[in-house]
Amino acid sequence: MRHFAVIGSGPAGFYTVEALAKAYGDAARIDLIDRLPVPYGLIRFGVAPDHQSIKAVSRRYDKVAEDQCVRFVGNVAVGQDVTIAQLRELYDAVILATGAPSDRALGIPGEELVGVIGSAAFVGWYNGHPDFADLDPPLDGESAAIIGNGNVALDVARILSKTRAEFVGSDIVDHALDALEQSNIRTITLVGRRGPHQIAMTPKELGELGHLDAAVPHTDPADFPDAEVDAALEPGVRKSVAHLRDFAKLDADKPKHINFDFFAKPIRIEGEHRAQRLIVERTRLDDTGASIGTGETYVVPASLVVSCIAYRTPPIPGVPYDEAGGKFANDHGLVEDGLYAVGWARRGPSGTIGTNRPDGYEVAERIVAALPPRSHGGRAGGDGLDALLAAAGVRPTSFADWRTIEAAEAAAARDGAPRAKMVRHEDWLKTLNH
Ligand SMILES: Cc1cc2nc3c(=O)[nH]c(=O)nc-3n(C[C@H](O)[C@H](O)[C@H](O)COP(=O)(O)OP(=O)(O)OC[C@H]3O[C@@H](n4cnc5c(N)ncnc54)[C@H](O)[C@@H]3O)c2cc1C
Repeated sequence: MRHFAVIGSGPAGFYTVEALAKAYGDAARIDLIDRLPVPYGLIRFGVAPDHQSIKAVSRRYDKVAEDQCVRFVGNVAVGQDVTIAQLRELYDAVILATGAPSDRALGIPGEELVGVIGSAAFVGWYNGHPDFADLDPPLDGESAAIIGNGNVALDVARILSKTRAEFVGSDIVDHALDALEQSNIRTITLVGRRGPHQIAMTPKELGELGHLDAAVPHTDPADFPDAEVDAALEPGVRKSVAHLRDFAKLDADKPKHINFDFFAKPIRIEGEHRAQRLIVERTRLDDTGASIGTGETYVVPASLVVSCIAYRTPPIPGVPYDEAGGKFANDHGLVEDGLYAVGWARRGPSGTIGTNRPDGYEVAERIVAALPPRSHGGRAGGDGLDALLAAAGVRPTSFADWRTIEAAEAAAARDGAPRAKMVRHEDWLKTLNH
């Protein structure tokens, strides 16, 4: 029997467990450990609450969790409740699928001001992550700036723009829904260093901005090269650029405005005790496509600044770390003998949910090659983990516990919503009589 511990129950963790379960069948026992009592990682806490069809991918993961050789072990923080060294003793291989949940610093003066928030925190707040339930972002000013030109920036802009009615059918948490309904924000500026041809926003998500009840997107025609140049773009980018060109022609009379400010590099945030404005420098592209400052600066009013620039994997004691990459040091997923990394903890924060599937399968293949199935015993596996946790007074949650929480959340849902997420550890554990 082989014993595996996969740490992190986001997409990368689930795909790796699926691959290992397929490869070993009954000859392995796999523990899928998560620091939270509930599974799914960013499917629950990152993917936008008004994109339920994407969140529904979690239903496919349920089959994996219910496999006889797999066990979900929630409410166990690795590096805190149990060390990597302890897990490496207990299991034949330990696979890190801990994602990249920490915001990278902007690295500009003023980022410590009240009202400057990283997207992991902001997204976690409206998605009910317990770490950010008390964030209370300031929505009392009229202007917000969102830094970044990827889909997370689009999610944040859309969430700040929607009316209460547009959230019907979503599982946005009540504290965010109420705060957003009271929000005074009318102008949202999306700030990106490069131009429309360099965006990392996908067409479907961009297209949605053109159909909001109370907000209208704007682009400046002067930011675009001649239309013929679009033909050379990769098809997805070409479609996105077509949306951006259309936004320059919209002039609907709606109370909120989403302005795309291209060729703009944030250089500092200013304000008395709290953010009031973002100072940006006009940029241009050099021959290699890199943005360079022109020296011209101007002000973007912003009492809320959300930086959507990148994420980092938090280090875990005893695991080699790649500081520059913000992820675990690894060679094609191999960290050290018997220690692997998958997903964002392996590659950094890029790609879609689906990107994590080949990633997890590839690492599983390497594990199978290094650790062929064997019939005799060896490591203590999950029994050893249970003993350690019991001795430390840690009470893990099982997949059946998650089902209990899931049912309670569904029963408490607003009209039309799939669930009312519990957002605090104690509420989850109270539901389980833990
Ligand atoms: C805001 C946002 C929106 C997104 N929207 C989309 C989208 O619409 N479509 C799409 O295809 N992709 C989307 N993505 C990308 C997608 O979410 C990622 O590709 C994917 O979640 C990465 O998977 P992962 O398993 O590596 O990490 P995660 O999903 O982050 O999972 C990591 C898991 O590890 C756990 N963990 C962390 N540290 C520990 C520890 N020390 N001990 C135990 N457990 C730990 C966490 O609790 C978490 O459950 C989005 C990403 C973000 C940030």
